[in-house]
Amino acid sequence: MAGIKDFLKDILRPSYRSMLAAMHAGDECRCNLCGKRFAAMRPRKGRHADGSSFIIKDGAGTCWKCNSYPRVRALWHWLVNDFKIQEKVDFELLHIAPEQQLADKFLKMPGIHYTAVDKFCPGYKYANYVSHADVTDLHFHDSMFDMIVCNHVLEHVKNDSKAMSELLRVLKPNGTAVLMVPINMEAERTDEEKPDEELSGEERERRFGQPDHVRMYGRDYFERLENVGFHVEHIAFPADLVKELELNPTEEVILAVKSN
Ligand SMILES: [Zn+2]
Repeated sequence: MAGIKDFLKDILRPSYRSMLAAMHAGDECRCNLCGKRFAAMRPRKGRHADGSSFIIKDGAGTCWKCNSYPRVRALWHWLVNDFKIQEKVDFELLHIAPEQQLADKFLKMPGIHYTAVDKFCPGYKYANYVSHADVTDLHFHDSMFDMIVCNHVLEHVKNDSKAMSELLRVLKPNGTAVLMVPINMEAERTDEEKPDEELSGEERERRFGQPDHVRMYGRDYFERLENVGFHVEHIAFPADLVKELELNPTEEVILAVKSN
């Protein structure tokens, strides 16, 4: 029964999304992934530990058509306009927990050799181009990738410094890892589950914002990246672009660069 349900969902989803996009068309904002324009983006939903949902009130939503998150629109803007990813040749790109909207773009770029991996959590469906990998124990040689995109992953990983070291190891010298995570900029230090602790979903949600997060990073996130050997860069966006692409004004693109 679930199989038939999923099958119908897959068939009907594109026309449902086109209908939503048409209903919310307007001139206030634009999705740079699918090109559609809207009066406002779709309010984002989060899920409580008890399974109920709620609206996230940070003023930035997902695209009605392609479901892009504000952080994906921000990153795509930087990748195309500043990093010029479309001009790269023989470019080895590792995408961890791949956002579909970005994967669709990368897969069409002839100069990119694209590798997509995920930890394969039960209950989730993965595209056929995604293979299994554990970010704390990557099955890749040293210095393989020119770029790694690994967004909103480290807050789920218990041993995040091991993951950071692995990301650094598989990156080429001068390579860049895009490592965006939720950060509480008002907190100096990260609040996290201790190595031997297993908090309840409710407690994790209360302290870290989501039942499946094991920490809420503070401003020391950047120091943690530097401690394993990365050089950190922050990309912020001007107010007119934040409005045009309906970005989260407090969310920067975080780049972790491997020095020579
Ligand atoms: Zn879109």
